[in-house]
Amino acid sequence: MHELGIVYEVINIVDRFVQENQLIKVDKIVLEVGQLSQAIPRFLEECYPAAVSETAYEDTKLEIIVLPANAKCKTCNEVYNIIEHRKICPECRGDDYELISGQEFNIKEIVAC
Ligand SMILES: [Zn+2]
Repeated sequence: MHELGIVYEVINIVDRFVQENQLIKVDKIVLEVGQLSQAIPRFLEECYPAAVSETAYEDTKLEIIVLPANAKCKTCNEVYNIIEHRKICPECRGDDYELISGQEFNIKEIVAC
């Protein structure tokens, strides 16, 4: 499970942000994770408590916003979720698509108080 490493990396980035902005306490970290990202949200959530245990982020909440793996059909322009539809356009049954979202991994927000 490489999610623990990803969580540590996120904490490091947050840590730098906290120092640069001289923040006292981080209330919440919001991540944006695409459905096709290498990180699995459920595993991130499972790793998180261990990663922040006995650190300054022990009380910091983790929120994960999952972005859908959406693609646009190159044949009929239908936008559809390629995981739900197994990469086949529900409108025209074509499989030629352009990915619009789903590969993101961003720290969307650091909520500090
Ligand atoms: Zn189509």
